Amino acid sequence: MRPPDLTPDERAAALRSATQARQLRAEVKGKVKNGEISIAQVIDMAHRDKAIAKMRVVELLESQNGVGKVRALTLMDRLKISHSRRIQGLGVHQRVELLRALNSTSARGILLVLSGPGGVGKSTVAAQLRRRSNFWVSVSATTRAPRVSEQNGVDYFFLTEEEFDERVANNEFLEWAIFAGARYGTLRDGVERALAAGMNVLLEIEIEGARQVRAHSKDAVLVFLAPPSWQELVARLEGRGSDSAERRAQRLALAEREMQSAAEFDHVIVNDQVEGVVEALVLLTPNQKVPRGPSN
Ligand code: 5GP
Repeated sequence: MRPPDLTPDERAAALRSATQARQLRAEVKGKVKNGEISIAQVIDMAHRDKAIAKMRVVELLESQNGVGKVRALTLMDRLKISHSRRIQGLGVHQRVELLRALNSTSARGILLVLSGPGGVGKSTVAAQLRRRSNFWVSVSATTRAPRVSEQNGVDYFFLTEEEFDERVANNEFLEWAIFAGARYGTLRDGVERALAAGMNVLLEIEIEGARQVRAHSKDAVLVFLAPPSWQELVARLEGRGSDSAERRAQRLALAEREMQSAAEFDHVIVNDQVEGVVEALVLLTPNQKVPRGPSN
């Protein structure tokens, strides 16, 4: 469409009003940032004010403390809101969903699921993240036998088949899956308490478990950790002296299938350097709250 012909006065007036609109949006975002007004209030103001109605949703979201660009876009993707959408373009349902998601994530920590093929180095990344004060790394339960270096309650809770059955029956698992002949599961209680205390929680789990978390928790952020190459993954799996030849072969076949599920995840991070992966994960959870610990 051709822009209307404006007189110099009209053009000057339009420019002034565009500048004022930008200033107003910047002012409103500043108020959201320092907590004077909420995102819900801004969305409400957009009904009455054209300049605010034209604000981009992503800008509004990222103006809230603790929501960076990555989280804002991840949230919008999940709610199927296009990245360029303005407040005025949000449907009623999208407004409600957006506010609900923001409410549930602002007070709570973020549930981060780190998955990927066996042998890709998830546990090394998890061990590094455990040292970060704002992360709580869940300790899973498993029916597999402990490896020489592993400690009960630190690396896993090692359970008998009967003990695992009992926890399944009591609905104590957030998710559980069978991997290479053993059962592994995340205990719901610790995760819930840590999230409620505002801590970010990391689950280091295999793909099937990640799918279960996705099905139950819309807010979870799912990350697929990929090896630098398939050859590298094979070398790592073959090099595991702690596993029998049969178990290594099983794990290789499984890893091949697991690699095909990367597209189901919110983010894919290549594990070419552990420090880089840790930094990327921290960037996905920008709510750097001071944790009080899950038991407080
Ligand atoms: P590993 O026996 O080498 O310690 O772990 C085998 C696989 O089980 C890894 O891919 C690991 O991420 C996964 N795993 C560990 N804990 C859990 C859990 O609680 N749930 C699920 N679904 N997988 C887990």
